[in-house]
Amino acid sequence: MITRQNLHMHSTYDDGKDSCECMLSACMKASLASAGISLHSPLPFQNDWAAASIYVSGYLREMASLKCRFGQAFQVYTGIEWDVLSDPAELDRFDYVIGSVHHLPVCAVPPSVDNTPEETAGCIQKYFGGDADAAATCYFNELLKVASEPRVSICGHFDLLLKFNERMPLFNPESPAYIKAGQTALDALLDAGKIIEVNTGAISRGWRSTPYPEAFWLREIARRGGSVLISSDAHSSAHVVTGFDAAEALLISCGFDHVMERSTSGAFQPVPLGKH
Ligand SMILES: [Zn+2]
Ligand SMILES: [Zn+2]
Repeated sequence: MITRQNLHMHSTYDDGKDSCECMLSACMKASLASAGISLHSPLPFQNDWAAASIYVSGYLREMASLKCRFGQAFQVYTGIEWDVLSDPAELDRFDYVIGSVHHLPVCAVPPSVDNTPEETAGCIQKYFGGDADAAATCYFNELLKVASEPRVSICGHFDLLLKFNERMPLFNPESPAYIKAGQTALDALLDAGKIIEVNTGAISRGWRSTPYPEAFWLREIARRGGSVLISSDAHSSAHVVTGFDAAEALLISCGFDHVMERSTSGAFQPVPLGKH
């Protein structure tokens, strides 16, 4: 494993199983040099996974204290995974922002495309008349909000729709409509200079055998000179670097020779992937 940083992890402040300290310690033990927690931003509708807004200040206080406790030997960052349906007003309070789409905005309590294959299938049926391409187009259109939010550095789990597709095929990623909507979103994200995350979270949850986005999109990103980073989206300390070797190998096979890493200055810098 060459990757030295993981910026996408959850804790007991949202739907993660372990404390922030436990997650960060696990990263240090896994030989990373730095890590960040990415709090799920509070949502304006009923859900059981995002942080409640009353917990945000406590999270910020705890992370400030953990930064001191870990010190210079292991750099700690206070991040947020901003869902595009959340209020972006407070994004300046965090060291970095991952921008993600989890719900399709088709009604007052929007259905999730990240929860279970059954919920995603029900959403396609109920709101798109069974037309998976139309649901995919809605998802990719939502990603335009990630592209247009200047405080977002990283696009989280691009192509999330394929999370369940290995075990329960709901979308056809080769359909022209799917590809066209994905290209439009990717164009906007790369034009805005966003770093595209290679997410290994579905491997640790048993949904996928490979990271995503898949090779098709990664080759597109490489061809256009776009930037990527690897993160685990871990919800427990056992999975902080799960799939990192596979993600590195996938990136190299798609033409990448580096990943991006956040430095203490706040800027993202390239780190060579080296020989694998
Ligand atoms: Zn997410
Ligand atoms: Zn996440």
